[in-house]
Amino acid sequence: VADPDGLRSISHSLLEAIKTHPGEQVLQKLGTPNFVMLLNTGGILPTRNFTRSQFEGAERISGETLEETLSLGNEGCYACAVRCKRKVSSKERYEVSAEYGGPEYETLASLGSCLGVDDLEAIAKGNELCNRYTLDTISTGMCIAFAMECFEKGLISLEDTEGLDLTFGNADAMVEMIERIAFRRGLGDLLAEGVKRAAEKLGGEAKKYALHVKGQELPLHDPRGKFGVGLSFAVSPTGADHIESAHDPFFQQIGPGLESVSPLGILEPVSALEAGPQKIRLFRHTQLIWNLWNCLGICNFIAQPPWALSLNEVVNTVRCVTGWNTSLFELMKVSDRGMAMARIFNLREGFGRKEDTWPERLFEPLPDGPNKGQTFTKEDLEKGKDLYYEMMGWDRENGKPTTGKLIELNLEWLL
Ligand code: SF4
Repeated sequence: VADPDGLRSISHSLLEAIKTHPGEQVLQKLGTPNFVMLLNTGGILPTRNFTRSQFEGAERISGETLEETLSLGNEGCYACAVRCKRKVSSKERYEVSAEYGGPEYETLASLGSCLGVDDLEAIAKGNELCNRYTLDTISTGMCIAFAMECFEKGLISLEDTEGLDLTFGNADAMVEMIERIAFRRGLGDLLAEGVKRAAEKLGGEAKKYALHVKGQELPLHDPRGKFGVGLSFAVSPTGADHIESAHDPFFQQIGPGLESVSPLGILEPVSALEAGPQKIRLFRHTQLIWNLWNCLGICNFIAQPPWALSLNEVVNTVRCVTGWNTSLFELMKVSDRGMAMARIFNLREGFGRKEDTWPERLFEPLPDGPNKGQTFTKEDLEKGKDLYYEMMGWDRENGKPTTGKLIELNLEWLL
């Protein structure tokens, strides 16, 4: 560390900022599970493979219920002052070990609402199994959701499941399917391929129920209620990704979220349902910042936007650690460079404009909640991509970084 005293001083002020930041305090108290009720109330909680956007069992799988029942308190990554992680255990219907951590929001939705499952203990068990077998809980849950919808529509039979009833809401079937996927037994062997390949092998209508972008299963956020998240699903180099940029609701009104992006020149609130130029601009800037956190190895729940560590303090942190007298401008160029390189890599591998899209279901009206009926059209998405590519310095035809953009980023060796 080039400047240990400087770094210590930043860490002390961050500790104070965390103590007074409302969002960090909620994360400390309930962790990401607090998002269950927020998203359910907003009508954007993915339910039964995104066929609904509110879940009648949301309270039973909420952060509040987790706290009152299975939680043993919070824990955290090394030396983190937020400590947003949950520790859970149970010895009732399922024996759940505290060793594997508690379910995050994504898991409560992927193994819970998206399967119509409201049994918190079974979800905690599913979370333990996924962590033990190193399975991603989002992809695993979405593969089971796909199978449940195929079962409902008659594309997968009881014979295919060897007698396992894959009806939405069957918590025991969810736990059993995780075992079968992990050990590639029976139908689990097919689902272990992910929804894209599984649907291709099943054929027929199955494609309609395989919710993915570029082969990556959808995370548990319904973009029909937040267009920026939808754009990130479409254009992220790694397929549908919910941590590509800060989510739209943080910037809908005057407050800490909006203030945190003022150094980027974003000063006016932007509605979560906005799909026009102001949304694309907000997304482009916050995506660059969140991609910078990936480059620096900073947790998405620590830095602005919208959390406690300010953009200026991030710059100072890099200066203190490296001794490099850098600036926010220079660091954003680091991020821009990473994104251009990822884009060039993807283009080489055959992922271009056509693959920057959504599964058909996301063009249907939002089924529930305060914004019921809200729709983003294919034209909305295509226009958003046009403008986004232009802001990125990519061509409209295939999203290819232009010669000028690559030279600006000192990446002419990629020409
Ligand atoms: S580093 Fe991030 S994920 Fe880990 S405990 Fe802290 S806030 Fe939570």
